[in-house]
Amino acid sequence: MKVVIIGGGAGGLSTASNIRKYDKQAEITVITMDENIAYSPCAIPYVLCGEVECFDDIIMHQPEDYLDRDITVITQAEVYEVRSSENKIKYHSNDEVEHELPYDFLVIATGGVPFIPPVVGTKLEGVFTILTIQDGFEIKKWAENSKRAVVVGAGLIGLEMAYGLKKMGLKVTVTEMQTQIVPRSLDPNMAQIVQEYLEEEGIEVILGKAIEKIIGEETVEGAVFGEEPVNAELLIMATGVRPETKLAKIAGCEMGQWAILVNEKMRTSVPNIYAVGDCVEVLDAITGHTTQSPLGSAAVRQAKIAAKNITGIDAEFRPVLNAMVSKIGDLEFGAVGLTKAAATRNDLEVVFGQKRALTKARYYPGAKRIDVKMICNLKGRIIGCQIIAKEKVAERVDTMALAIAKEVTCFELANMEFSYAPPLSMVIDPIILAAENACEKLKQVTGG
Ligand SMILES: Cc1cc2nc3c(=O)[nH]c(=O)nc-3n(C[C@H](O)[C@H](O)[C@H](O)COP(=O)(O)OP(=O)(O)OC[C@H]3O[C@@H](n4cnc5c(N)ncnc54)[C@H](O)[C@@H]3O)c2cc1C
Repeated sequence: MKVVIIGGGAGGLSTASNIRKYDKQAEITVITMDENIAYSPCAIPYVLCGEVECFDDIIMHQPEDYLDRDITVITQAEVYEVRSSENKIKYHSNDEVEHELPYDFLVIATGGVPFIPPVVGTKLEGVFTILTIQDGFEIKKWAENSKRAVVVGAGLIGLEMAYGLKKMGLKVTVTEMQTQIVPRSLDPNMAQIVQEYLEEEGIEVILGKAIEKIIGEETVEGAVFGEEPVNAELLIMATGVRPETKLAKIAGCEMGQWAILVNEKMRTSVPNIYAVGDCVEVLDAITGHTTQSPLGSAAVRQAKIAAKNITGIDAEFRPVLNAMVSKIGDLEFGAVGLTKAAATRNDLEVVFGQKRALTKARYYPGAKRIDVKMICNLKGRIIGCQIIAKEKVAERVDTMALAIAKEVTCFELANMEFSYAPPLSMVIDPIILAAENACEKLKQVTGG
């Protein structure tokens, strides 16, 4: 069996490794435009802020490591044609030579491309997008000779990059066209907690203003937001990523609302072509609508499902809750399921429970403040949760992901058994306290 995988990121390489796990004979070839493979883009901001020493540390494997497992990885090569009627792809390598490869199964794992708003000045030197390790490397080099930076877009990546640049010693401004930061994952009152932390760390935040133009002759000198000019020698467009669907379209794959349409087996509409990662759309577990899940964690899970189905093992990718976490300085924040705002946009009637508590017993040295917001529908089913603290956020987000996936209600959660020891937890966990608060609100709303 010949498998060709386009893309050497989280989705592509995980598919290759999983196919090898289930089929020792398959001929597996991965083709990527990137020079580097098997690195973690998620770690780029942590190289900037110095928590990870250098970019080499975030490259986990080289092509030779894959060859040891009989997986061929071709780097710096672009696939430009997919002839699905003949089960063939064409690519050219950096020597400009054209090649053809036949396949029995093709996996499209082409990821995304940064979205750049159509404003003047995006081609000036010092204006960057962030997708690959090379982008990270170039941003760091440019930042070493800069004093002021603007990050356009206050999503996760924008904030993580902003903090990294601040730690490098730059004066940093983050701008966001919406009226709050992290609008996709946090409600305004929770986003405010993160914003206050950023401001305490010396990062300026401008909300509710879209970028109008970038100023400069050859290199960037600043940008205008609304009427407000901001000076900067470095500007990062962290304005989102769009799925890279060009090849899938050439192959004749049906597109969905946002990206490549796949079924629960990660199969596209074209026989023998699968797709995984940022280039596909998925189903939202709460609303049932199509959505995107541009997360490394989703790409790796989808890869496992595609590999199983390609090797004859039946497996299905479940609708997503988009569980996420991030760490900026010593502040951790995470979310899973719907925010209250997203629930309202989807015409869902909800209540929310909210609690500010501590991560350890009150008297225990080092106890940290923790904020939990829990969203429930009017039957009490938990459909979303947001958590912010200086420790132990990821574990709680994952607990809530399980609770939401299993359709637990706030009444059930409020009565669940959690572990306790003063240096590790409160005797009643903050998520139980938030569930109790949601139960009270629900009783007020439903009169139950
Ligand atoms: C700064 C940053 C921080 C992030 N932090 C997190 C995080 O904390 N947690 C999290 O879950 N996610 C995070 N992400 C998102 C995560 O990195 C992506 O969701 C993940 O990399 C998607 O994997 P993928 O395989 O779909 O795409 P990618 O990793 O983007 O790989 C796409 C591949 O396709 C190749 N390709 C595209 N077109 C062609 C072609 N025509 N021919 C050949 N090759 C082609 C590219 O060269 C590349 O190798 C972060 C991303 C960034 C940039």
